[in-house]
Amino acid sequence: MSPPSGLPLRCWAEIDLAALERNLRLIRAALPPHIRYVAVVKADAYGHGLPQIAARLMHAGADLFAVANLAEAAALREITPDWPILLLSPLLPEEMRFAPDYDVAVTVSSVEEVERLDRAAAAARRQLNVHLKIDTGMGRAGVWHEEAGPVFEAVRCAAYLRLAGVFTHFSSPGEDPVFTAEQRRRFLAALEAHQPAAGREALFIHADNSAGLETIELAGPFNAVRVGLLQFGVMPTPGALLAEVPAEPVFSFRTRVGLVKSLPAGTRISYGGTHTLARSSRVAILTAGYGDGIPRAASNRGSILVRGQRCPILGRVTMDQTIIDVTHLPEVHAGDEAVLVGRQLGEEIPLTEFSRHADTIPWETLCSVTKRVPRIYRTPLGT
Ligand SMILES: *Cc1c(COP(=O)(O)O)cnc(C)c1O
Repeated sequence: MSPPSGLPLRCWAEIDLAALERNLRLIRAALPPHIRYVAVVKADAYGHGLPQIAARLMHAGADLFAVANLAEAAALREITPDWPILLLSPLLPEEMRFAPDYDVAVTVSSVEEVERLDRAAAAARRQLNVHLKIDTGMGRAGVWHEEAGPVFEAVRCAAYLRLAGVFTHFSSPGEDPVFTAEQRRRFLAALEAHQPAAGREALFIHADNSAGLETIELAGPFNAVRVGLLQFGVMPTPGALLAEVPAEPVFSFRTRVGLVKSLPAGTRISYGGTHTLARSSRVAILTAGYGDGIPRAASNRGSILVRGQRCPILGRVTMDQTIIDVTHLPEVHAGDEAVLVGRQLGEEIPLTEFSRHADTIPWETLCSVTKRVPRIYRTPLGT
């Protein structure tokens, strides 16, 4: 949602497209040249805005886009008629007949899906690409690794489907390297059993998401990675490989001071009176709240930068306003910029810190920035 032109911004997200492009190039440079880059841009490119992010990722040379569903694929097709797209989530039965319209590769996990999709492609007289997904221990989409044979066979038999990829997804790549290695082993065993080595070159064979890159096996059949969070400059779990990739934050989240006022000691702040001022204080009322994506869980926990200094959140975050303590900053005035996530005058609140204070993960924080918040794009091409 953009404010009518000329109105000042009250809460906005700044998206640095040049940083996005540099991140993609850094991630690529850390990987061998044969590894293809699947740019994960589901959920409106993690809340950054799909058209702008996808356009810049195409410019930077992403090989394939991954989205969750057909509506997202349709939005991508508005900006590119032919860049390859992979749908990551299962299609509903009645969605299958639309897949050929958008020329997407579909993830398949069962014989039933393969047969239904083949009938839809036949009806449209269009060949469709599929990526066969193997469940190696995530317990989500994919055929269980010990039962993958019939799905490979069904794809082979489907006249209108072409196998374009085989993949799996890790459940705990940042937390449990032992289980991740086991998932890799299960995947390779299924691939070995059902996909002749001769045909593998032509396929996308992929497992690693951002955190998986820490344990990626650069030898062997893997030839693609699926990168979401890391391209936005957020390190899920910094380890050896990612430490070599000085990815920069793409996203920052900013608001303004709407009002500054003094309150006496003993005043209870915001709904429920969950914070009591221990001393007479100056507080600033920010022009954003949970209606913009400041999680209510950050009540009494998070800090926000004003004039380059951390200011604690007092009491509950409300829908449109958030209260912070600025007693230590006598120079704060109405109109000042306040930074929820990002840098200000040499100080920084990383997305990971903001998310921790909100009891959540960076992925969810990015998806929670609401429609009310305009996305402002920095460094478009040609600047
Ligand atoms: C979202 C998603 C990714 C990207 O994960 P990040 O941790 O953001 O890199 C990769 N693969 C699948 C199947 C996904 O759903």
